[in-house]
Amino acid sequence: MSAVPGTAAAASCASCHDCGLLCRLPGAGAHAHCPRCGGALHTRKPRSLERTWALVIAAAICYVPANVLPVMRVTSLGKPQADTIMSGVIYFLMHGMWPLAAIVFIASVFVPLLKLVILVGLLISVHRGSSWRPSERTRLYRLTEMIGRWSMVDIFAITILVALVRLGNLATIEAETGAVFFGAVVVLTMLAAESFDPRLIWDRSDARST
Ligand SMILES: [Zn+2]
Repeated sequence: MSAVPGTAAAASCASCHDCGLLCRLPGAGAHAHCPRCGGALHTRKPRSLERTWALVIAAAICYVPANVLPVMRVTSLGKPQADTIMSGVIYFLMHGMWPLAAIVFIASVFVPLLKLVILVGLLISVHRGSSWRPSERTRLYRLTEMIGRWSMVDIFAITILVALVRLGNLATIEAETGAVFFGAVVVLTMLAAESFDPRLIWDRSDARST
């Protein structure tokens, strides 16, 4: 890892990930612990790139069945009908409910894909040691963290629908396999964004500027 003057790493210091205490690190290779809370000290999240790659690849794999398999089955007057995310979007569009169609499309198809693309782009840029626009790349990273929670909108919608429709006897709604994969995509991309260390973006560009 490279360090520049003015950073904690350059002064052989690291802040504790658990309690935030700034601690002086012993020699290279030694395992250090925070004197206040006992948490392990490291200047960067350990194995950040490997973990993020693993989670991003797992999320990309789950993204396929999440969109291809049905997410819910509606049985109305004895007639069962299974819906995928896209068939739901098309159904809403055909019935003039375009704001709902837009919400479902953006939250379930567009946002997870955007998150995956941004994370892959950030990972590749760090691997290549890119010094291209670190502030913009950090902003992109913050965006992936911020939009993560909004992908859960669909899972909430399905659970609310299931609960609402259970109250009546005319129709039943059940969550299908696609919803499980969809939930997995949301959780895996959130974990991937969490395991990525945005300071890696600055390490390379700081090293080039000194
Ligand atoms: Zn601590």
